[in-house]
Amino acid sequence: MSERDTSGPGGRQGAEEVGGLEASALQLAAQVRSGARSAVSVVEDHLAGIAAGDGEIHAFNHVMEEEALAAASRVDERLAAGEDPGPLAGVPVALKDNLCTRGVPTTCSSRILEGWLPPYDATVVARLAASGAIAIGKANLDEFAMGSSTEHSAFGPTRNPHDTGRVPGGSSGGSAAAVAAGFAPLGLGSDTGGSVRLPAAYCGVVGMKPTYGAVSRYGLIAFASSLDQIGPFGRTVADAAALLEVVAGHDPLDSTSIDAPAPAVSAVLDAGVEGLRIGLVTELSGEGTDPDVRRRVAAAAEALEAAGAKVEDVSVPATTLGLSAYYLIAPAEASSNLARYDGVRYGLRVDAPTNGGMNVASRTAGFGDEVKRRIMLGTYALSAGYYDAYYGKAQQVRTLIIRDFAAAYERFDLLLSPTAPTTAFPFGAKTADPLSMYLTDVCTIPSNLAGDPAISVPYGLGDDGMPIGVQLLGPALSEPTLFRAAAVLEHSMAPTGDGGPAAGRERTT
Ligand code: GLN
Repeated sequence: MSERDTSGPGGRQGAEEVGGLEASALQLAAQVRSGARSAVSVVEDHLAGIAAGDGEIHAFNHVMEEEALAAASRVDERLAAGEDPGPLAGVPVALKDNLCTRGVPTTCSSRILEGWLPPYDATVVARLAASGAIAIGKANLDEFAMGSSTEHSAFGPTRNPHDTGRVPGGSSGGSAAAVAAGFAPLGLGSDTGGSVRLPAAYCGVVGMKPTYGAVSRYGLIAFASSLDQIGPFGRTVADAAALLEVVAGHDPLDSTSIDAPAPAVSAVLDAGVEGLRIGLVTELSGEGTDPDVRRRVAAAAEALEAAGAKVEDVSVPATTLGLSAYYLIAPAEASSNLARYDGVRYGLRVDAPTNGGMNVASRTAGFGDEVKRRIMLGTYALSAGYYDAYYGKAQQVRTLIIRDFAAAYERFDLLLSPTAPTTAFPFGAKTADPLSMYLTDVCTIPSNLAGDPAISVPYGLGDDGMPIGVQLLGPALSEPTLFRAAAVLEHSMAPTGDGGPAAGRERTT
């Protein structure tokens, strides 16, 4: 057993290693709200952690030092005046750099947005501020959220805090690494095909994709609008739940926003899983999955059963088609969404004698290779003569996936799978072969196509000592049930729990 195995509840391994900033978001908020410590001191500590450690990790494109300290002072002033500064008072949050922050650089890790300052805050950013939380920096991502490793950032990759020779996952790799490294107890990412859950798994933290429409996309720079959802990162399930409650809920500024309040997830964390029916998805846990990952998923199934759930295998056949459908639908939507970066309206402009020449020169210089690849794939899939064969067919497959999930949810409350087939891979392992990179999303993409929620929970370590995440999936609006089950898994990983850290590598079942 390695030293890391003894470090406590699942996913906490990185927190102690970099910066020593291991207090949970809820602990910090309680301390600030009670006056035990100031919001400014919390922010100063985290800024110091970032200054000491982010040179190596590169979780952030931009640290919001001035803004964060000013926001923390306002929280302290409100407390001094006897006002309620909100449930997340003084808690630093890492924001994926595709979330608009008024007057603060928002780049999508793309040259094409360099120099652009959004004139407004994303709804989630405004809601964080209203909750007393402190935006501490803009976190690195794959350019326009297209990728699984954060290697496609125009500003250089983020390193995994557990092993700096490996990727943190992507595309929200900066947010996940920031939380794992202790730079912020909370992070926000966006998940179009797994971009919150995959880096959460690779970095050993909790990451969640809410039901499509549960969190407002207003001010999230669009990648694939029918799939994009903003989701929370935390080192604990309770922290992720608290963050979801703050950012979710109806927003008239997003036409796809569900007309309902935020799901009450914190209140049910102790409700357990007694009597729940949970299906282990055979298509997502089979052949292509590494044996150590399979062992941890089996251990998770056992822990859920030990807590009173009934776990059985279930086939959800169309999930095997998810990747093919996604890599037509997502690029198609992206090719349309990214047409707005034309050298006129945002960021970078490269001048040329004609207007059209200027558009081409700006896009040629501004977009990286992966973004260009997606735009070409998407344009092709949507072009006359190919539309029915590619885009139209992919939409039919999407319907099959939705139906197969619906059939599974007639028999099961939740589903279980790995979050990813492997642990975090070394830098450069997949950049030369886009298809091998795309394959990392095989377990996460189906939920996006169905619009359903899913959560990745750290569940021990692989043979290489890297974190493994297990994924719980549920039908639309099942967030409370997902969080209940996630809390059971987290509890079983606590030092005294059944599936505890000692089960990380020795377990052979
Ligand atoms: N890795 C997937 C892609 O490259 C998913 C990205 C995401 O969820 N933003 O498209």
